[in-house]
Amino acid sequence: MKRATSIKTRITIWYTTLMLVLIAVVLSLIGGISYRLSIDNIEKDVMVQVSGVNEKLSKRDRGVFFKIENNEEFKNVTVYTDRGEYVAGKYNYDIDRIPFKEGNPRRESVDGKEYIIYDLRTSTPPGIPPFWIRGAESVNSSVILGQSMFYVVLILVPIILLLTALGGYYITKKAFMPISDITKTADDIRVKGDVKKRIPLNPEGKEDELFRLSVTLNAMLDNIENLITKEKQFTSDASHELRTPISVVLSQGEYLLEIAETEKERELAQNIVDKANQMSKLVSSLLLLSRIDQNRQKLIKKDVELRVLVDVAVETTKAFANEKRINVNVKVEENLTVYVDETLMLSVITNLINNAVKYGKESGTVDIMAKREGSAVNIIVKDDGIGISKENLEKIWDRFFRVDDVRNDEYGSNGLGLSMVKSIVELHGGKISVESEIGKGTEFKIVI
Ligand code: ADP
Repeated sequence: MKRATSIKTRITIWYTTLMLVLIAVVLSLIGGISYRLSIDNIEKDVMVQVSGVNEKLSKRDRGVFFKIENNEEFKNVTVYTDRGEYVAGKYNYDIDRIPFKEGNPRRESVDGKEYIIYDLRTSTPPGIPPFWIRGAESVNSSVILGQSMFYVVLILVPIILLLTALGGYYITKKAFMPISDITKTADDIRVKGDVKKRIPLNPEGKEDELFRLSVTLNAMLDNIENLITKEKQFTSDASHELRTPISVVLSQGEYLLEIAETEKERELAQNIVDKANQMSKLVSSLLLLSRIDQNRQKLIKKDVELRVLVDVAVETTKAFANEKRINVNVKVEENLTVYVDETLMLSVITNLINNAVKYGKESGTVDIMAKREGSAVNIIVKDDGIGISKENLEKIWDRFFRVDDVRNDEYGSNGLGLSMVKSIVELHGGKISVESEIGKGTEFKIVI
Protein backbone atom coordinates (compact mmCIF):
# COMPACT_ATOMS: atom_id res chain seq x y z
CA MET A 1 0.00 0.00 0.00
CA LYS A 2 1.18 3.51 -0.75
CA ARG A 3 2.04 5.63 2.25
CA ALA A 4 -0.27 8.60 2.60
CA THR A 5 2.34 11.36 2.86
CA SER A 6 1.09 14.67 1.54
CA ILE A 7 3.24 16.76 -0.79
CA LYS A 8 3.23 19.44 1.94
CA THR A 9 4.78 17.04 4.44
CA ARG A 10 7.31 15.74 1.91
CA ILE A 11 8.43 19.24 0.92
CA THR A 12 8.63 20.29 4.58
CA ILE A 13 10.69 17.21 5.49
CA TRP A 14 12.95 17.83 2.48
CA TYR A 15 13.94 21.41 3.21
CA THR A 16 14.03 20.95 6.99
CA THR A 17 16.54 18.13 6.43
CA LEU A 18 18.40 20.33 3.93
CA MET A 19 18.45 23.15 6.48
CA LEU A 20 19.75 20.75 9.14
CA VAL A 21 22.54 19.57 6.83
CA LEU A 22 23.40 23.18 5.90
CA ILE A 23 23.53 24.27 9.53
CA ALA A 24 25.66 21.24 10.38
CA VAL A 25 28.10 21.99 7.51
CA VAL A 26 28.32 25.72 8.34
CA LEU A 27 28.73 25.04 12.06
CA SER A 28 31.44 22.46 11.55
CA LEU A 29 33.27 24.81 9.17
CA ILE A 30 33.05 27.69 11.65
CA GLY A 31 33.91 25.31 14.48
CA GLY A 32 36.91 23.90 12.59
CA ILE A 33 38.29 27.32 11.70
CA SER A 34 37.76 28.82 15.13
CA TYR A 35 39.29 25.71 16.70
CA ARG A 36 42.39 26.08 14.53
CA LEU A 37 42.61 29.80 15.37
CA SER A 38 42.22 29.10 19.08
CA ILE A 39 44.98 26.47 19.02
CA ASP A 40 47.27 28.95 17.23
CA ASN A 41 46.45 31.55 19.84
CA ILE A 42 47.13 29.19 22.72
CA GLU A 43 50.44 28.14 21.17
CA LYS A 44 51.48 31.76 20.75
CA ASP A 45 50.33 32.60 24.27
CA VAL A 46 52.31 29.72 25.77
CA MET A 47 55.44 30.66 23.83
CA VAL A 48 55.15 34.30 24.91
CA GLN A 49 54.72 33.32 28.55
CA VAL A 50 57.65 30.90 28.45
CA SER A 51 59.92 33.46 26.74
CA GLY A 52 58.84 36.08 29.28
CA VAL A 53 59.83 33.89 32.20
CA ASN A 54 63.02 32.89 30.41
CA GLU A 55 63.93 36.53 29.92
CA LYS A 56 63.27 37.33 33.56
CA LEU A 57 65.31 34.33 34.72
CA SER A 58 68.23 35.15 32.51
CA LYS A 59 68.49 38.61 34.09
CA ARG A 60 68.83 37.30 37.61
CA ASP A 61 72.03 36.39 39.26
CA ARG A 62 72.66 33.26 41.16
CA GLY A 63 71.59 34.58 44.54
CA VAL A 64 68.11 35.62 43.71
CA PHE A 65 67.46 33.05 41.01
CA PHE A 66 64.81 31.14 42.87
CA LYS A 67 63.05 34.13 44.26
CA ILE A 68 60.58 34.59 41.45
CA GLU A 69 57.75 32.62 42.86
CA ASN A 70 54.99 35.03 42.05
CA ASN A 71 52.26 32.95 40.40
CA GLU A 72 51.03 36.01 38.55
CA GLU A 73 54.25 36.19 36.66
CA PHE A 74 54.35 32.48 35.97
CA LYS A 75 50.68 32.09 35.00
CA ASN A 76 50.88 28.85 32.95
CA VAL A 77 54.61 28.37 33.30
CA THR A 78 56.56 25.97 35.52
CA VAL A 79 60.30 25.83 36.06
CA TYR A 80 62.05 22.48 36.61
CA THR A 81 65.62 21.48 37.27
CA ASP A 82 67.52 19.79 34.50
CA ARG A 83 66.52 16.48 36.12
CA GLY A 84 62.87 17.40 36.04
CA GLU A 85 62.32 18.37 39.69
CA TYR A 86 59.81 21.13 40.37
CA VAL A 87 61.41 24.45 41.18
CA ALA A 88 58.87 27.23 40.78
CA GLY A 89 55.70 28.36 39.00
CA LYS A 90 52.42 26.67 38.46
CA TYR A 91 52.27 23.18 39.90
CA ASN A 92 50.40 20.55 37.94
CA TYR A 93 51.01 16.88 38.65
CA ASP A 94 49.72 15.79 35.21
CA ILE A 95 52.06 18.09 33.36
CA ASP A 96 55.07 17.14 35.54
CA ARG A 97 54.91 13.64 34.15
CA ILE A 98 55.32 14.64 30.51
CA PRO A 99 58.92 14.18 29.33
CA PHE A 100 60.77 17.35 28.25
CA LYS A 101 61.42 17.99 24.61
CA GLU A 102 62.83 21.11 23.06
CA GLY A 103 61.26 22.46 19.83
CA ASN A 104 57.91 23.86 18.78
CA PRO A 105 54.76 23.83 20.93
CA ARG A 106 53.14 20.39 20.77
CA ARG A 107 49.96 18.57 21.79
CA GLU A 108 50.15 16.05 24.63
CA SER A 109 47.42 14.16 26.33
CA VAL A 110 47.46 13.00 29.92
CA ASP A 111 44.61 10.94 31.41
CA GLY A 112 42.31 11.98 28.60
CA LYS A 113 43.11 15.67 29.03
CA GLU A 114 44.68 17.58 26.16
CA TYR A 115 47.46 20.11 26.67
CA ILE A 116 49.61 22.34 24.54
CA ILE A 117 53.13 22.06 25.87
CA TYR A 118 56.09 24.23 25.09
CA ASP A 119 59.48 23.34 26.65
CA LEU A 120 62.51 25.60 26.72
CA ARG A 121 65.90 24.84 28.14
CA THR A 122 67.38 27.95 29.75
CA SER A 123 70.69 29.42 29.13
CA THR A 124 71.92 30.09 32.69
CA PRO A 125 74.87 32.10 34.01
CA PRO A 126 78.09 30.09 34.18
CA GLY A 127 78.17 27.61 37.01
CA ILE A 128 74.43 27.26 37.23
CA PRO A 129 72.97 24.07 35.69
CA PRO A 130 70.34 24.74 33.00
CA PHE A 131 66.63 24.66 33.83
CA TRP A 132 63.55 23.55 31.94
CA ILE A 133 60.86 26.14 31.52
CA ARG A 134 57.57 24.57 30.56
CA GLY A 135 54.48 26.37 29.41
CA ALA A 136 51.28 24.33 29.43
CA GLU A 137 47.68 25.19 28.65
CA SER A 138 44.76 22.86 28.50
CA VAL A 139 42.83 22.42 25.29
CA ASN A 140 39.19 22.08 26.17
CA SER A 141 37.01 21.83 23.05
CA SER A 142 33.89 23.35 24.51
CA VAL A 143 35.97 26.20 25.93
CA ILE A 144 37.64 26.65 22.56
CA LEU A 145 34.38 26.58 20.69
CA GLY A 146 33.11 29.08 23.18
CA GLN A 147 30.09 28.97 25.38
CA SER A 148 28.05 31.10 22.97
CA MET A 149 28.60 28.64 20.15
CA PHE A 150 27.45 25.88 22.45
CA TYR A 151 24.17 27.70 23.15
CA VAL A 152 23.65 28.38 19.46
CA VAL A 153 23.90 24.69 18.75
CA LEU A 154 21.77 23.62 21.69
CA ILE A 155 18.96 26.19 21.64
CA LEU A 156 18.99 28.26 18.48
CA VAL A 157 19.33 25.41 16.01
CA PRO A 158 16.16 23.57 17.12
CA ILE A 159 14.30 26.90 17.16
CA ILE A 160 15.52 27.74 13.65
CA LEU A 161 14.56 24.26 12.45
CA LEU A 162 11.11 24.49 14.04
CA LEU A 163 10.49 27.91 12.49
CA THR A 164 11.70 26.64 9.11
CA ALA A 165 9.42 23.61 9.29
CA LEU A 166 6.33 25.49 10.54
CA GLY A 167 6.80 28.47 8.22
CA GLY A 168 7.45 26.25 5.24
CA TYR A 169 4.51 24.01 6.04
CA TYR A 170 2.21 27.05 6.35
CA ILE A 171 3.40 28.52 3.04
CA THR A 172 3.07 25.23 1.12
CA LYS A 173 -0.30 24.62 2.72
CA LYS A 174 -1.50 28.01 1.48
CA ALA A 175 0.02 27.41 -1.93
CA PHE A 176 -1.71 24.03 -2.19
CA MET A 177 -5.07 25.32 -0.97
CA PRO A 178 -6.49 25.32 -4.55
CA ILE A 179 -5.70 21.58 -4.73
CA SER A 180 -7.92 20.92 -1.69
CA ASP A 181 -10.62 23.01 -3.38
CA ILE A 182 -10.21 21.04 -6.61
CA THR A 183 -10.37 17.72 -4.73
CA LYS A 184 -13.42 18.86 -2.75
CA THR A 185 -15.24 20.04 -5.86
CA ALA A 186 -14.44 16.82 -7.75
CA ASP A 187 -15.64 14.80 -4.75
CA ASP A 188 -18.89 16.78 -4.48
CA ILE A 189 -19.56 16.20 -8.16
CA ARG A 190 -18.71 12.50 -7.85
CA VAL A 191 -20.67 11.80 -4.65
CA LYS A 192 -23.63 14.19 -4.94
CA GLY A 193 -23.68 14.26 -8.74
CA ASP A 194 -23.92 18.06 -8.55
CA VAL A 195 -22.52 19.03 -11.96
CA LYS A 196 -23.22 22.69 -11.23
CA LYS A 197 -20.45 22.77 -8.64
CA ARG A 198 -17.34 24.78 -9.56
CA ILE A 199 -13.90 25.25 -8.02
CA PRO A 200 -13.94 28.48 -5.98
CA LEU A 201 -11.48 31.05 -7.36
CA ASN A 202 -10.01 33.60 -5.02
CA PRO A 203 -10.06 36.90 -6.96
CA GLU A 204 -7.28 38.25 -4.74
CA GLY A 205 -5.23 35.07 -5.09
CA LYS A 206 -2.10 34.86 -7.24
CA GLU A 207 -2.59 33.85 -10.86
CA ASP A 208 -0.22 30.93 -10.50
CA GLU A 209 -0.24 27.48 -12.14
CA LEU A 210 -2.90 26.14 -9.77
CA PHE A 211 -5.13 29.15 -10.35
CA ARG A 212 -4.90 28.59 -14.10
CA LEU A 213 -5.57 24.87 -13.61
CA SER A 214 -8.71 25.70 -11.61
CA VAL A 215 -9.89 28.10 -14.33
CA THR A 216 -9.32 25.42 -17.00
CA LEU A 217 -11.08 22.74 -14.95
CA ASN A 218 -14.04 25.06 -14.37
CA ALA A 219 -14.25 25.69 -18.11
CA MET A 220 -14.15 21.92 -18.69
CA LEU A 221 -16.92 21.42 -16.11
CA ASP A 222 -18.99 24.05 -17.97
CA ASN A 223 -18.60 22.00 -21.15
CA ILE A 224 -19.52 18.75 -19.40
CA GLU A 225 -22.56 20.37 -17.79
CA ASN A 226 -23.61 21.68 -21.18
CA LEU A 227 -23.33 18.22 -22.72
CA ILE A 228 -25.31 16.65 -19.90
CA THR A 229 -28.00 19.31 -20.16
CA LYS A 230 -28.22 18.80 -23.90
CA GLU A 231 -28.40 15.04 -23.48
CA LYS A 232 -31.16 15.36 -20.89
CA GLN A 233 -33.02 17.78 -23.13
CA PHE A 234 -32.66 15.35 -26.03
CA THR A 235 -34.13 12.46 -23.99
CA SER A 236 -36.96 14.67 -22.87
CA ASP A 237 -37.66 16.01 -26.40
CA ALA A 238 -37.40 12.56 -28.01
CA SER A 239 -39.79 11.05 -25.45
CA HIS A 240 -42.25 13.86 -26.01
CA GLU A 241 -42.08 13.41 -29.76
CA LEU A 242 -42.65 9.64 -29.40
CA ARG A 243 -45.72 9.97 -27.21
CA THR A 244 -48.21 10.85 -29.95
CA PRO A 245 -47.15 8.23 -32.55
CA ILE A 246 -47.13 5.56 -29.86
CA SER A 247 -50.63 6.38 -28.74
CA VAL A 248 -51.75 6.33 -32.37
CA VAL A 249 -50.12 2.89 -32.85
CA LEU A 250 -51.71 1.70 -29.61
CA SER A 251 -55.21 2.88 -30.42
CA GLN A 252 -55.05 1.55 -33.97
CA GLY A 253 -53.63 -1.75 -32.71
CA GLU A 254 -56.55 -2.00 -30.30
CA TYR A 255 -58.95 -1.26 -33.13
CA LEU A 256 -57.30 -3.96 -35.27
CA LEU A 257 -57.67 -6.37 -32.34
CA GLU A 258 -61.37 -5.61 -32.24
CA ILE A 259 -61.97 -6.17 -35.93
CA ALA A 260 -59.60 -9.13 -36.32
CA GLU A 261 -61.37 -12.06 -37.86
CA THR A 262 -58.80 -14.81 -37.93
CA GLU A 263 -56.63 -16.17 -35.13
CA LYS A 264 -53.53 -15.02 -37.01
CA GLU A 265 -54.88 -11.44 -37.32
CA ARG A 266 -55.71 -11.42 -33.60
CA GLU A 267 -52.23 -12.63 -32.73
CA LEU A 268 -50.59 -9.91 -34.88
CA ALA A 269 -52.83 -7.17 -33.50
CA GLN A 270 -52.19 -8.34 -29.92
CA ASN A 271 -48.50 -8.17 -30.61
CA ILE A 272 -48.84 -4.58 -31.81
CA VAL A 273 -50.85 -3.62 -28.72
CA ASP A 274 -48.34 -5.30 -26.34
CA LYS A 275 -45.32 -3.66 -27.91
CA ALA A 276 -47.07 -0.28 -28.08
CA ASN A 277 -47.92 -0.62 -24.39
CA GLN A 278 -44.29 -1.45 -23.64
CA MET A 279 -43.12 1.58 -25.60
CA SER A 280 -45.65 3.80 -23.88
CA LYS A 281 -44.39 2.56 -20.47
CA LEU A 282 -40.80 3.19 -21.55
CA VAL A 283 -41.54 6.70 -22.73
CA SER A 284 -43.42 7.52 -19.51
CA SER A 285 -40.47 6.28 -17.47
CA LEU A 286 -38.02 8.30 -19.57
CA LEU A 287 -40.13 11.42 -19.22
CA LEU A 288 -40.35 10.98 -15.46
CA LEU A 289 -36.60 10.42 -15.20
CA SER A 290 -35.78 13.46 -17.31
CA ARG A 291 -38.18 15.59 -15.25
CA ILE A 292 -36.40 14.47 -12.08
CA ASP A 293 -32.99 15.07 -13.72
CA GLN A 294 -33.98 18.58 -14.72
CA ASN A 295 -35.50 19.27 -11.30
CA ARG A 296 -38.87 19.74 -12.97
CA GLN A 297 -40.68 16.92 -11.19
CA LYS A 298 -43.06 18.42 -8.63
CA LEU A 299 -43.87 16.40 -5.52
CA ILE A 300 -47.42 16.55 -4.34
CA LYS A 301 -46.78 15.37 -0.81
CA LYS A 302 -49.37 14.39 1.74
CA ASP A 303 -49.72 11.99 4.65
CA VAL A 304 -50.32 8.57 3.18
CA GLU A 305 -51.28 5.43 5.07
CA LEU A 306 -48.52 3.01 4.08
CA ARG A 307 -50.69 -0.06 4.56
CA VAL A 308 -53.14 1.25 1.93
CA LEU A 309 -50.30 1.98 -0.49
CA VAL A 310 -48.84 -1.51 -0.09
CA ASP A 311 -52.26 -3.14 -0.47
CA VAL A 312 -52.86 -1.32 -3.75
CA ALA A 313 -49.42 -2.36 -5.02
CA VAL A 314 -50.01 -5.98 -4.00
CA GLU A 315 -53.37 -5.93 -5.70
CA THR A 316 -51.78 -4.66 -8.93
CA THR A 317 -49.28 -7.50 -8.97
CA LYS A 318 -51.68 -10.16 -7.66
CA ALA A 319 -52.44 -11.80 -10.99
CA PHE A 320 -48.76 -12.08 -11.80
CA ALA A 321 -47.95 -13.50 -8.35
CA ASN A 322 -50.76 -16.03 -8.63
CA GLU A 323 -49.43 -17.07 -12.03
CA LYS A 324 -46.14 -18.03 -10.36
CA ARG A 325 -47.94 -19.33 -7.25
CA ILE A 326 -45.96 -16.86 -5.15
CA ASN A 327 -47.15 -16.20 -1.63
CA VAL A 328 -47.11 -12.46 -0.86
CA ASN A 329 -46.93 -11.62 2.88
CA VAL A 330 -47.59 -8.10 4.07
CA LYS A 331 -46.43 -6.98 7.49
CA VAL A 332 -46.98 -3.25 7.81
CA GLU A 333 -47.33 -1.54 11.21
CA GLU A 334 -50.79 -0.16 11.99
CA ASN A 335 -51.36 3.57 11.38
CA LEU A 336 -48.00 3.99 9.75
CA THR A 337 -48.18 7.14 7.68
CA VAL A 338 -45.55 8.63 5.43
CA TYR A 339 -45.42 12.13 4.02
CA VAL A 340 -44.87 11.42 0.31
CA ASP A 341 -46.12 11.89 -3.22
CA GLU A 342 -48.70 9.09 -3.32
CA THR A 343 -48.54 8.29 -7.04
CA LEU A 344 -44.76 8.20 -7.19
CA MET A 345 -44.40 6.19 -3.99
CA LEU A 346 -47.00 3.74 -5.23
CA SER A 347 -44.97 3.21 -8.40
CA VAL A 348 -41.84 2.62 -6.24
CA ILE A 349 -43.50 -0.08 -4.15
CA THR A 350 -45.26 -1.60 -7.16
CA ASN A 351 -41.97 -1.75 -9.05
CA LEU A 352 -40.19 -3.48 -6.17
CA ILE A 353 -43.00 -6.02 -5.63
CA ASN A 354 -43.24 -6.60 -9.37
CA ASN A 355 -39.49 -7.28 -9.54
CA ALA A 356 -39.70 -9.56 -6.49
CA VAL A 357 -42.36 -11.60 -8.25
CA LYS A 358 -40.65 -11.42 -11.65
CA TYR A 359 -37.31 -12.63 -10.28
CA GLY A 360 -38.83 -14.75 -7.49
CA LYS A 361 -38.96 -18.51 -7.70
CA GLU A 362 -42.11 -20.46 -8.56
CA SER A 363 -44.14 -21.12 -5.38
CA GLY A 364 -41.78 -18.87 -3.46
CA THR A 365 -42.49 -16.10 -1.01
CA VAL A 366 -42.38 -12.31 -1.18
CA ASP A 367 -42.37 -10.40 2.12
CA ILE A 368 -43.28 -6.76 2.38
CA MET A 369 -42.53 -5.19 5.73
CA ALA A 370 -42.77 -1.63 6.96
CA LYS A 371 -42.10 -0.17 10.38
CA ARG A 372 -41.11 3.06 12.05
CA GLU A 373 -37.55 3.36 13.28
CA GLY A 374 -36.92 6.60 15.09
CA SER A 375 -38.01 9.44 12.89
CA ALA A 376 -37.67 7.30 9.75
CA VAL A 377 -39.80 4.62 8.17
CA ASN A 378 -38.23 1.43 6.82
CA ILE A 379 -39.87 -0.38 3.94
CA ILE A 380 -38.51 -3.79 3.00
CA VAL A 381 -39.37 -5.89 -0.03
CA LYS A 382 -37.81 -9.33 0.13
CA ASP A 383 -37.94 -12.36 -2.15
CA ASP A 384 -36.40 -15.82 -2.21
CA GLY A 385 -35.73 -15.80 -5.94
CA ILE A 386 -32.75 -15.90 -8.28
CA GLY A 387 -30.75 -13.19 -6.51
CA ILE A 388 -28.20 -10.80 -8.02
CA SER A 389 -24.45 -11.44 -8.31
CA LYS A 390 -22.03 -9.13 -6.47
CA GLU A 391 -20.64 -7.63 -9.67
CA ASN A 392 -24.15 -6.68 -10.87
CA LEU A 393 -25.37 -5.34 -7.55
CA GLU A 394 -23.95 -1.86 -8.19
CA LYS A 395 -25.17 -1.78 -11.79
CA ILE A 396 -28.85 -2.54 -11.21
CA TRP A 397 -29.52 1.18 -10.58
CA ASP A 398 -28.12 2.13 -13.99
CA ARG A 399 -30.57 3.08 -16.70
CA PHE A 400 -31.38 0.26 -19.15
CA PHE A 401 -29.29 -2.23 -17.16
CA ARG A 402 -30.71 -5.71 -17.20
CA VAL A 403 -28.88 -8.74 -15.81
CA ASP A 404 -30.32 -11.14 -18.34
CA ASP A 405 -31.60 -9.46 -21.52
CA VAL A 406 -33.24 -12.52 -23.09
CA ARG A 407 -35.04 -13.65 -19.99
CA ASN A 408 -36.26 -10.15 -19.16
CA ASP A 409 -37.67 -9.61 -22.61
CA GLU A 410 -40.39 -12.15 -21.82
CA TYR A 411 -41.70 -9.76 -19.20
CA GLY A 412 -41.31 -6.62 -21.29
CA SER A 413 -38.58 -5.34 -18.97
CA ASN A 414 -36.73 -2.23 -19.97
CA GLY A 415 -34.14 -1.84 -17.21
CA LEU A 416 -35.51 1.53 -16.13
CA GLY A 417 -37.55 0.34 -13.13
CA LEU A 418 -34.87 0.50 -10.46
CA SER A 419 -33.29 3.74 -11.69
CA MET A 420 -36.73 5.28 -11.45
CA VAL A 421 -37.28 3.80 -7.99
CA LYS A 422 -33.93 5.20 -6.80
CA SER A 423 -34.55 8.65 -8.30
CA ILE A 424 -37.99 8.89 -6.69
CA VAL A 425 -36.76 7.72 -3.27
CA GLU A 426 -33.87 10.22 -3.38
CA LEU A 427 -36.22 12.98 -4.54
CA HIS A 428 -38.09 12.33 -1.28
CA GLY A 429 -34.82 12.64 0.64
CA GLY A 430 -34.75 8.90 1.32
CA LYS A 431 -32.25 6.14 0.67
CA ILE A 432 -32.55 2.75 -0.97
CA SER A 433 -30.18 -0.17 -0.50
CA VAL A 434 -30.05 -3.77 -1.65
CA GLU A 435 -28.70 -7.03 -0.33
CA SER A 436 -28.71 -10.13 -2.43
CA GLU A 437 -27.27 -13.58 -2.83
CA ILE A 438 -27.38 -15.60 -6.00
CA GLY A 439 -29.92 -18.43 -5.68
CA LYS A 440 -31.12 -17.27 -2.26
CA GLY A 441 -32.98 -14.06 -2.88
CA THR A 442 -32.92 -10.30 -2.73
CA GLU A 443 -33.91 -7.67 -0.19
CA PHE A 444 -34.54 -4.02 -1.03
CA LYS A 445 -34.70 -1.57 1.85
CA ILE A 446 -36.03 1.96 1.66
CA VAL A 447 -35.42 4.39 4.50
CA ILE A 448 -37.59 7.45 4.19
P1 ADP B 1 -36.26 -4.54 -15.30
O1 ADP B 1 -37.27 -3.77 -16.03
O2 ADP B 1 -35.31 -5.27 -16.18
O3 ADP B 1 -36.79 -5.36 -14.19
P2 ADP B 1 -35.13 -2.97 -13.22
O4 ADP B 1 -34.40 -1.65 -13.27
O5 ADP B 1 -36.34 -3.06 -12.40
O6 ADP B 1 -35.35 -3.37 -14.69
O7 ADP B 1 -34.07 -4.01 -12.68
C1 ADP B 1 -32.80 -4.08 -13.24
C2 ADP B 1 -32.26 -5.47 -13.17
O8 ADP B 1 -32.04 -5.82 -11.81
C3 ADP B 1 -33.22 -6.50 -13.67
O9 ADP B 1 -33.03 -6.75 -15.04
C4 ADP B 1 -32.86 -7.74 -12.85
O10 ADP B 1 -31.86 -8.45 -13.49
C5 ADP B 1 -32.32 -7.16 -11.56
N1 ADP B 1 -33.28 -7.28 -10.47
C6 ADP B 1 -34.14 -6.32 -10.06
N2 ADP B 1 -34.88 -6.75 -9.01
C7 ADP B 1 -34.50 -8.01 -8.77
C8 ADP B 1 -34.86 -9.02 -7.79
N3 ADP B 1 -35.80 -8.80 -6.88
N4 ADP B 1 -34.25 -10.21 -7.84
C9 ADP B 1 -33.26 -10.43 -8.75
N5 ADP B 1 -32.87 -9.54 -9.68
C10 ADP B 1 -33.46 -8.35 -9.70
